Amino acid sequence: MEKIAVYPGSFDPVTNGHLDIIKRASKLFDRLIVAVLHNSSKDSLFTFEERVNLLKEVVKDIDNVEVDCFTGLLIDYCNNKKVNAIIRGLRAVSDFEYELQMAQMNRQLNRDIETVILTTSTKYSFISSSLIKEVGKHKGDISQFVPNNVSKQVYKKLHGRE
Ligand code: ADP
Repeated sequence: MEKIAVYPGSFDPVTNGHLDIIKRASKLFDRLIVAVLHNSSKDSLFTFEERVNLLKEVVKDIDNVEVDCFTGLLIDYCNNKKVNAIIRGLRAVSDFEYELQMAQMNRQLNRDIETVILTTSTKYSFISSSLIKEVGKHKGDISQFVPNNVSKQVYKKLHGRE
């Protein structure tokens, strides 16, 4: 039986930190589904279709990675897709409490699905989607923190040009 993992998140937008986790997780499983949360209540810079499309471009050369989206409970999505594990990334202690709580709740909801937490590569540990948007808003150089297509689209969204 093939082992399938899902890497869920908002990805608003996908960063080099996310991409690092995607590449590393893809080596641990037969298939990795990057699942964008379709959450209408959260203020996001990119629509969920745009976030999905940016991700698709970013992972197009990684064979066993696909991009999808989900609404509602992650565990329900995992059950439908016959997923074995949920991937999350851990940057700092500040992420820990939230990630631990979510992992425990998800385990309570379905004991067959494990949460696998990968620690960030140190060079990406300070990168977050929200900081990328903040730096981009003030026209700082974000090209070193996000894939090329993403950096262009962030500028386009915020300033009307690439
Ligand atoms: P969410 O809104 O679910 O936290 P994000 O898109 O912000 O979604 O993040 C998805 C996952 O990726 C989370 O587990 C988060 O901790 C992790 N992550 C975010 N940025 C990085 C990074 N720079 N390095 C490693 N993991 C990261």
